[in-house]
Amino acid sequence: MHDQIKGRLAPSPTGAQHLGNARTYLAAWLSARSRGGTLVLRIEDIDSPRVKPGAAEQAIDDLRWLGLDWDEGPIYQTARLARYAAAFDQLQQAELVYPCTCTRTDVERAASAPHGESAGAVHAEPAYPGTCAGRRVADAAGLRDRVFAWRLRAAPALWSYVDGLLGPTALDLEKLGGDFIVWKSSGTPAYQLAVVVDDHEMGVTEVMRGDDLVPSTARQLLLYHRLGWTPPVFTHVPLVVGPDGRRLAKRHGDTRLSTLRDAGITAEDVIGLLGWSCGWLDSIRPISAHELLSSFTLAAVPRVPFVLTQELLTQIAPRHG
Ligand code: GLU
Ligand code: ZN
Repeated sequence: MHDQIKGRLAPSPTGAQHLGNARTYLAAWLSARSRGGTLVLRIEDIDSPRVKPGAAEQAIDDLRWLGLDWDEGPIYQTARLARYAAAFDQLQQAELVYPCTCTRTDVERAASAPHGESAGAVHAEPAYPGTCAGRRVADAAGLRDRVFAWRLRAAPALWSYVDGLLGPTALDLEKLGGDFIVWKSSGTPAYQLAVVVDDHEMGVTEVMRGDDLVPSTARQLLLYHRLGWTPPVFTHVPLVVGPDGRRLAKRHGDTRLSTLRDAGITAEDVIGLLGWSCGWLDSIRPISAHELLSSFTLAAVPRVPFVLTQELLTQIAPRHG
């Protein structure tokens, strides 16, 4: 007997969804659906200064256009703030967090999903020096009108897990920045806490996402441990990069799904390119997500970034005349 598999699609409405996002959604959708699993759609909209009006609706539209569906949601993180507060309270009760008054730049760097520039590289960030680590939870009262966030003590620091695609993976929280923010100075949860509370409470058994989030997995494993919860299976898919090897961005041309659609490219064209890039198709040809279900296997997915060239984009451009 297999336990029921549950995946998730978790767009951040901080900008438009592009080919890189679509590749990860396709993999997450196929992985769950090909084994009879269900999916939840979660809109990660707590990163308020960066959330763009209309981007959540656009992301939902883009997913529907791609032919990806879900069984639950959309669930908006901003509607679940009380749940995150409850988990944070649990961390405070256990004296696992402390108030940190370090600079705003530090706070911002640590507060949202840290997408690294170099795809796949688990690179070191400047470690939090522990300036405020001597504080106790009760010290927050004495900070009065000073601005402070809450950091989780990054101990134990060594974490390992078996990635669904990348295999055994060892991570050291000290090298990844040390104590990290779980509650922002704005009084809202950081990505790391919200995502753990959500995946746990939504019963997600499989987290599939871009490999820029591998370092975050160590932080999330610590949170699962501290909250007394069992972590899901983590599977990280290498990112889509431009010919220069850097993660897909505006400088590589406009690969927003809405732009491709407006240019007359079909969802099947896009799925065909992405399916081929993941090793599920021998050649680039139009195909639906459903039709890919029988070809899906994680083993076929290259462990290196997918380099999106102009030539490849031309192959799915509509031919005129
Ligand atoms: N919302 C994040 C993103 O769109 C994904 C976070 C996650 O999958 O844990 O990059
Ligand atoms: Zn500090």
